[in-house]
Amino acid sequence: MTPDQFREHGRDVLDWIARYLDEVERYPVLSSLRPGEVRSRLPEHPPQQPEPFERIWSDFKQIILPGITHWQSPWFFGYFPCNRWPSSILGELLSAGLGVQGMLWLTSPACTELETHVLDWLVELLDLPRRFLSTGSGGGVIQDTASSATLCAVIAGRERATGLASRRQGCPPGLTAYASAQAHSSVVKAMALAGIGTDNLRLIEVDESYALRPDALRRSLEADRRAGRKPFCVVATIGTTSSMAFDPLRPVGEICREHGLWLHVDAAMAGSAAICPELRSFHDGLELADSYCFNPHKWLGVNFDCDCFYVADRESLIRAMSVTPEYLRNPASEAGEVFDYRDWQIPLGRRFRALKLWFVLRSEGAEGLRSLIRRHIALAAEFADWVSNDPAWELAAPVHLNLVCFRHRGGDAVNQRILEQVNASGRMFLTHTRLDDRWTLRLCIGGLTTQREHVTEAWRLLQEAARMQTVS
Ligand code: PLP
Repeated sequence: MTPDQFREHGRDVLDWIARYLDEVERYPVLSSLRPGEVRSRLPEHPPQQPEPFERIWSDFKQIILPGITHWQSPWFFGYFPCNRWPSSILGELLSAGLGVQGMLWLTSPACTELETHVLDWLVELLDLPRRFLSTGSGGGVIQDTASSATLCAVIAGRERATGLASRRQGCPPGLTAYASAQAHSSVVKAMALAGIGTDNLRLIEVDESYALRPDALRRSLEADRRAGRKPFCVVATIGTTSSMAFDPLRPVGEICREHGLWLHVDAAMAGSAAICPELRSFHDGLELADSYCFNPHKWLGVNFDCDCFYVADRESLIRAMSVTPEYLRNPASEAGEVFDYRDWQIPLGRRFRALKLWFVLRSEGAEGLRSLIRRHIALAAEFADWVSNDPAWELAAPVHLNLVCFRHRGGDAVNQRILEQVNASGRMFLTHTRLDDRWTLRLCIGGLTTQREHVTEAWRLLQEAARMQTVS
């Protein structure tokens, strides 16, 4: 592709994206393709000769687009959102244009320094504990996802507990970690990948609001100590995936301090809400945490992927992660004057993700982000009111932030069929979970363009589907 062709096609692609953003609500939210259908439309063998862009572009529209689930649709209420502002798309585009690989400070000083700076800004904006600031002994780094952040935290905790011995000799037996029974599956995965083993993760009982019970945590880890095991880490969740429950950080943090355990706090979804001062109470006790993460790619409108991971003592993370071959040595790193973010994460290479975050923070401003979050929360509260005022339905968990867990009183099979019916309509998309072993619908409001009319219509569609299920 020549520079002139790049300009011309680039304009077409940007125009198309701008139109897509305007029109996305007209697409059926869920792709209706069957498994294998996209592949069946692709040539069996890779191209040997260059193809004109027009052909690639046309195939994108004919083959790829029908296989897209439209996460940016205002009718997308599933999982947790993954939204992004236009300013973020431009930051992402520039990152691709620069093609920087920021493993070391030297490989692009701006990539590292912008990241450090913007993550310090977020400490101020979210009123996070000052021990996470890079100007002290802590600091923040952008990971791809919360799963990676949790894995890094578990590894750093493992190394602190074993005095770095497990780096060299593998994991000693008996290391044990704790999380609530509602913690995200990435905690289980981290235990497997860190070589500690999923049998050594205790999933602690939750209370009636699905939050971890500190008394049960204490009992479990004291029993483990008596049995000669070595508790080393607790992962607490602020905003669980199933129901947005908040584990009580202060009592959990105090137990961790008392027993010398690494406390990681996973606030993947809910953390963004702390940009609103009136919503910060769920962070009470966060100063007791060793590490913390949240995903601006879920609720601050920064393109996937962008997880902000903070540690209070960066040296414990770097010691656990760092391996330095000769070919990466350079004077700035050797002098200890700079951060080399390769030592704060699993892979060596890294993208210039801070650009999109910087673009969003500047282009929307804290006030723009606050009003988005407040709008979503107000809509969720209104939806929850409609549910609780309809005798055929009930709330399934306390409503926190922008997630409503609810169910029809007709039982599991009815709820399952309601979900299938509304999703098959293509008009909206929501997902489910199980709470107390009962099928539960989850409606999460997080679209940048989701307005009251979308939520009202979603409720109407759900009620209509319920009527059809209970009549038939
Ligand atoms: N933690 C929580 C509480 C989540 O809700 C999720 C995903 O929704 C994750 C972790 C995993 O997120 P990621 O895709 O960033 O790894």
